[in-house]
Amino acid sequence: MSLNDQWRRVRARLQAELGEATFNSWFKQIDLIGVGDGRVMLSVPTRFIRNWIVSHYADRLAKLWADEDEGFARVDILVAAGEPKPESIAESIEEPSRDKRPVSAPAQADGAVVASAIPSGLEDAGVGAPLDPRFTFDAFVVGKSNELAHAAARRVAEATDVSFNPLFLYGGVGLGKTHLMHAIAWEIRTRQPERKVLYLSAEKFMYQFVRALRFKDTMAFKQQFRSVDVLMIDDVQFISGKDSTQEEFFHTFNALIDHNRQVIISADRSPSDLEGIEERIRSRLGWGLAADIHPTDYELRLGILQAKADDMMQKNGPVTIPPGVLEFLAHRIVSNVRELEGALKRVVAYASFVGRPITLDMSQEVLRDLLRSNDRKITIEEIQRRVAEYYNVRLADMLSARRARAVARPRQVAMYLAKQLTSRSLPEIGRKFGGRDHTTVIHAVRKIDELCHLDSGIEEDVDLLRRMLEGGHAPN
Ligand code: ADP
Ligand code: MG
Repeated sequence: MSLNDQWRRVRARLQAELGEATFNSWFKQIDLIGVGDGRVMLSVPTRFIRNWIVSHYADRLAKLWADEDEGFARVDILVAAGEPKPESIAESIEEPSRDKRPVSAPAQADGAVVASAIPSGLEDAGVGAPLDPRFTFDAFVVGKSNELAHAAARRVAEATDVSFNPLFLYGGVGLGKTHLMHAIAWEIRTRQPERKVLYLSAEKFMYQFVRALRFKDTMAFKQQFRSVDVLMIDDVQFISGKDSTQEEFFHTFNALIDHNRQVIISADRSPSDLEGIEERIRSRLGWGLAADIHPTDYELRLGILQAKADDMMQKNGPVTIPPGVLEFLAHRIVSNVRELEGALKRVVAYASFVGRPITLDMSQEVLRDLLRSNDRKITIEEIQRRVAEYYNVRLADMLSARRARAVARPRQVAMYLAKQLTSRSLPEIGRKFGGRDHTTVIHAVRKIDELCHLDSGIEEDVDLLRRMLEGGHAPN
């Protein structure tokens, strides 16, 4: 078995475990340097990638190599040549062999766009979109689900040269993509005011382009976009299917990347999932770093609520929001951060309007509709699947007539959660569990209730499962 075969296998297993997108983000450019002394030496192109792999995948890599050969006791990851000398690393990612633009770009001679203008001249000219002053890094709460996107965004904002190109941020609606993009723009403006930053939505990009076509002014259009140092296009899925806009976007994109300017893109899905966008564009979008934002988990939601509540107090004076209310909201409003924020605002506004203190009861009352729409998201099927996964039993067995304890207990837990987390009736729940009678469901609910009081193990299981289901994804 040659070393190369082993390396190929390690990579294949990583790819299978992590999925294509994650693998490509971190491991696409990893190389095997060699082995010696029981050490495997790998190299990656940048320090940032190295640090990320070390902090997130080191154990996994070590295990995979040990599986290949017990003699491989440790894995070292080095940054490939091209890395700047230690004293100049200064948290910046350098691209080797590209002509580096000086940090202070010379101002345009014609004065059309003053390079150091704050806010950017382009924004004043109506090309870009204004930045929301609330969307800063300080106001962004970091959790497991967004830590990668956040780290990458910070890196791009703090580097004096081009980092990953493009940085592609993607994730569902209301999870903070626009917030992060604005935060990058604010940060660059503060740290490096001489760099020209242009932020706009893909929709606005299209609008500008169509207008330029109509007024036969495409030269100026091209010029505007190609003279920036950092271009950010938000919600790029918007240009899918709009052929001429896509074409122009692609040219702009290529021109900027070829000139070593930073491009940052967001979309509601990964580059490879962007339907209606040409293959060559999709593939080029995935060349840099694609960082996804996952749905929030309970801890992050609570953290965000606490931050927003603090902020409200700073601005509007003391409002007392009992911790129980924040916890309740974090448990129940799972759809996205925008709704979560909206819920908090509604509760606070209502309380001040009627001049009553905020309570749990009142929150439930005020948010009835929102709670209901968030509730519907958990299905019995999902509960069954998660519970089976959790207890490591087969879903088919859980739904079967088998009475063995190993499947009977998970089945009861699943029934209990179905009763608690959905609005399905007992007979409906029974039917979904292999056509059981509603009395079986009642029995299961009572049993688990009882066990939760007697057995902290079961209580923990149920609590964890509930959080996972309410959070919409597994904490891992
Ligand atoms: P997207 O662009 O992904 O649809 P936004 O960036 O517009 O989402 O975020 C929606 C709202 O949620 C904004 O008000 C934003 O400030 C807030 N938000 C999202 N994620 C976070 C976070 N991690 N911390 C604080 N606020 C957040
Ligand atoms: Mg957005």
